[in-house]
Amino acid sequence: MSREYWMESALLPEGWTGSALVRVSDDGIITAVQKASGGAGGDAQTGADADAGRERIRGVVVPGMANAHSHAFQRAMAGATEYRLSARDSFWTWRQAMYALANRIEPPALTAIATQLFVEMLKSGYTSVAEFHYVHRRIDGAAYVGNNALWDAVSEAATNAGIGLSFLPTLYQTSDFGGRPLRRDQARFELQTDEFLRAVAARVRSERHGGSRMLRTGAAFHSLRAVPLATLREASLQLRDIDASLPVHIHVAEQLREVQACKQETGRRPIELLLESGLLSPHWCLVHATHATPAELQGIAGHAATVCVSITTEANLGDGFFDTNRYLRAEGRLCIGSDSQATVAPAEELRWLEYQQRLKRKRRGVLADAQEPHVGTRLWRDAAVHGAQAIGQAVGAIAVGRRADWLVLDSEHPTMAGCAADAALDHLVFAGASAAIRDVMVAGRWVVRDHRHGAEDTAAAGFAATMRELTIPVYTG
Ligand SMILES: [Zn+2]
Repeated sequence: MSREYWMESALLPEGWTGSALVRVSDDGIITAVQKASGGAGGDAQTGADADAGRERIRGVVVPGMANAHSHAFQRAMAGATEYRLSARDSFWTWRQAMYALANRIEPPALTAIATQLFVEMLKSGYTSVAEFHYVHRRIDGAAYVGNNALWDAVSEAATNAGIGLSFLPTLYQTSDFGGRPLRRDQARFELQTDEFLRAVAARVRSERHGGSRMLRTGAAFHSLRAVPLATLREASLQLRDIDASLPVHIHVAEQLREVQACKQETGRRPIELLLESGLLSPHWCLVHATHATPAELQGIAGHAATVCVSITTEANLGDGFFDTNRYLRAEGRLCIGSDSQATVAPAEELRWLEYQQRLKRKRRGVLADAQEPHVGTRLWRDAAVHGAQAIGQAVGAIAVGRRADWLVLDSEHPTMAGCAADAALDHLVFAGASAAIRDVMVAGRWVVRDHRHGAEDTAAAGFAATMRELTIPVYTG
């Protein structure tokens, strides 16, 4: 049975509306959106129709956010690598700690960690996530027999939490440019091109038959240092044959050392290589693109590909500054991700996109524009729409044909006190982070009600038990 929701305030693709009626099919898809006028919602506003498939939503409704870049297992080390740091510490020493963790995780631990993480994502406003997953093999380096138990662990966690999942099996073959073999501590990441393509094809086939609204398979290339360019080119063409709309992600130009090594080996910068490959399309998502030249930013924008910026992770790892201002002015499509899970809050990612520009340019309101003068609204709406593009799911807007994924901001919360109707996202992004998010719906089902997720106690208990068993390594440089 379809349901109807009366929203007293909502952000629609064309802007804020004072009152809207939204109809949702029983499989969680929005089938009608009607701006209401006058007494159109009169009966519903009494609340008397709640049992007849109608519900009135008090507060401000905004689209749920897509988290376009996540490595779930890294949630187990958030906060644990800030200890005994020295001036020699960097992304590369953090990576040593991350590898040590990656080499301890068994499938049940991954389920527990990812379930806790996905509950946290939902409570903070992420209603779907793209899991860029590159731990494929058993701890001893052997392949799993039958289904990949680590991949299944991520799917199980997404089901436990009720979050939309785009699962991106990630090709990882070399330790650096020039085809250098994998190191011993990278043995779990190895995937042969044919097993990668077979696995993606099998998942896409079964999704076509099974048809879950909550799951989408995509694919990823870990980076140009982990996949030789010729392999990337050949595999990309075959992925296109499997599914022409398959989301394809790649880490690129995160670190200066990576850019320099790429130039040394190929004579080109990494984003230049991707642009020259002729492969980029709106289905591609370039993760980080931190060290991009103005011409490269223009090139990515010209292909209508997305860039996923994970600014709290990039700040945590000391990666560098992405030039958000230049990219948005080139009409670049930007989305956000929680990446290493140092912070799991879309409002905080968006706030720091703007703050980074204010600090650099010594002025305010850098990312507002004439069409959308509210910085919070502009950033939230753009990241939701482009995040949906990046993860290949029909989400990111309260519009017909999209999945019914939305958040309700509590107008009574102190974060929202005195807030004008069209400034709710400014308050959320700049004054509240996640605290004012009261309810969260995914695919027409409330997964967070009154700030509580139905599985949060069991998720937290499972996570605590797992963390007691995992000793988190700290690399001291
Ligand atoms: Zn990443």
